[in-house]
Amino acid sequence: MEVKIARTAGFCWGVRRTVDQVMQVADQAVGQVVTLGPIIHNPQAVARMREKGVGTVNAIAEVAAGTTVVVRTHGAVKTELESAEARGLAVVDGTCPYVKYPQAMAQRLSKQGYHLVIVGDANHAEVKGVVSYAEGPCTVVKPGGAVPDIKDKKVAVIAQTTCIGADFERLVGALALRHKEVRAVNTICNDTEERQADARSLAAEVDAVVVVGGKNSANTRHLAEICRAIQPRTWHVETEAELCPEWFDGCKVVGLSAGASTPDWVVEGVAGWLRGLEGQPVGAA
Ligand code: SF4
Repeated sequence: MEVKIARTAGFCWGVRRTVDQVMQVADQAVGQVVTLGPIIHNPQAVARMREKGVGTVNAIAEVAAGTTVVVRTHGAVKTELESAEARGLAVVDGTCPYVKYPQAMAQRLSKQGYHLVIVGDANHAEVKGVVSYAEGPCTVVKPGGAVPDIKDKKVAVIAQTTCIGADFERLVGALALRHKEVRAVNTICNDTEERQADARSLAAEVDAVVVVGGKNSANTRHLAEICRAIQPRTWHVETEAELCPEWFDGCKVVGLSAGASTPDWVVEGVAGWLRGLEGQPVGAA
């Protein structure tokens, strides 16, 4: 059985940059180091950070004086950063520049009088952060959700960085038919688009797909949805421990994709397990 690994599988540059920042801070800081929320949506990577002595807090109110706070790739809610500053805490901003863009656009567009619409998951940390920068009315619409009933004439649409392009396009198109002015700013991250395109072509070429990454990772879940729509034999796992040999009965080629927050060593673990199936008798499809 052949194992094909997607070119883009594993850490994106934004996650790699923040993880490197955390490691550097953990080596150099005198006091305790904490991340504001799990640094990335991958339980295995978070566990490794914990081994290095890096803790996680959910709010600045939980942080003791003298602690260094690292903001994760998803960014943070504006008032949390203001409260860290007011308390004089050392803050290392690990927000991915591709997340800073929708934050800045949320502020700018709402100041310009647009009703801001964000295509994304209202409960996701990145979206909560972006919403906090809006200085006027703001509506979050989940991908594939109903077109919101907004009375304002001017509407501006942005997206969670990991949004599927078609969901953004669909909402912009629907709003354009209802409002006098619709401004669309595509804030989907390039890495996400490339990774999704890669996953699509991979799923079309193989007999089964394994998507590796945190079950709490939005971009990994989207990858699994994209692959499953093309190849129904798609499995989303966090590590090789969840894999079952019978899932691959009859498969000649298995594709492997991974979310932007999945460490290389986790991808390698799954690839190694799949390669271990090579040479074993192939059952009936
Ligand atoms: S997926 Fe894109 S937005 Fe998210 S951390 Fe990576 S580079 Fe940044």
